[in-house]
Amino acid sequence: MSTYARAPILLALLASLFACAPPTLPTPTSTPSVSTPRVAATPAADNFALQRKAMVDDQIRARAVSDSDVLRAMETVPRHEFVLPEWLAQAYEDHPLPIGNGQTISQPYIVAVMTELAQIKRGDRVLEIGTGSGYQAAVLAMLTDQVYSIEIIPALAESAAARLKRLGYANVVVQNADGYNGWEKYAPFDAILVTAAPDHVPPPLVAQLKDGGRMVIPVGPVGSFQTLWRVNKRGDKVVSENIMGVLFVPLTRK
Ligand code: SAH
Repeated sequence: MSTYARAPILLALLASLFACAPPTLPTPTSTPSVSTPRVAATPAADNFALQRKAMVDDQIRARAVSDSDVLRAMETVPRHEFVLPEWLAQAYEDHPLPIGNGQTISQPYIVAVMTELAQIKRGDRVLEIGTGSGYQAAVLAMLTDQVYSIEIIPALAESAAARLKRLGYANVVVQNADGYNGWEKYAPFDAILVTAAPDHVPPPLVAQLKDGGRMVIPVGPVGSFQTLWRVNKRGDKVVSENIMGVLFVPLTRK
């Protein structure tokens, strides 16, 4: 992983500690009374576009994520639509945010890194485990037309599906289930992204990867040092690359 190996180690460590669930979350700022804009013509929408550009330049490109399609997706998906109203002012900041039910929307940098590592090409069939807010799924939906996402908490699965539909991401299918088992019906997948940490790589997910497929997955104990892996399937062989240390919410079981 030469690209990431070259990234400043301190920066990567700091950033990865805030991957998905930091020990202390930021304080909410006052709730703006505006309804979240979809159309680009309002001053508020322009402001979000500027914040999004700064997020990509300062947090993502600056930390050596270079795939132009990934950068464009991060610059396009309206992250502010995926956060709770009380966190709107922090939607583009360099950390995760609470989304309710004890879960978080991941830090933008981590979403970009995981997406780049998955090497998604148009036409790829992609599975995400841990829909959460639907933000990572929306970024994936900018890169291919077949995105399947599984969320274990019914309320989050429901709200993410409704949000993605409202925002026009018609190519994302959300299911409420335990993602440990993957999604046999649509397998095999070109790429699998797991956005909650199990303590081992789930064998059903490896089984549901295509030959040549990539899985990006954090593995480790709850609330402690975890490792982000890229698991590559080549024929009968599975090759795992250790990418960096991260901190994600745990993968829970039904
Ligand atoms: N990708 C999300 C953030 C992930 S937070 C986003 O972009 O907003 C991790 C999510 O994984 C949480 O919503 C949590 O409920 C979910 N999760 C945990 N264990 C799971 C499991 N076994 N199957 C599916 N989802 C799971």
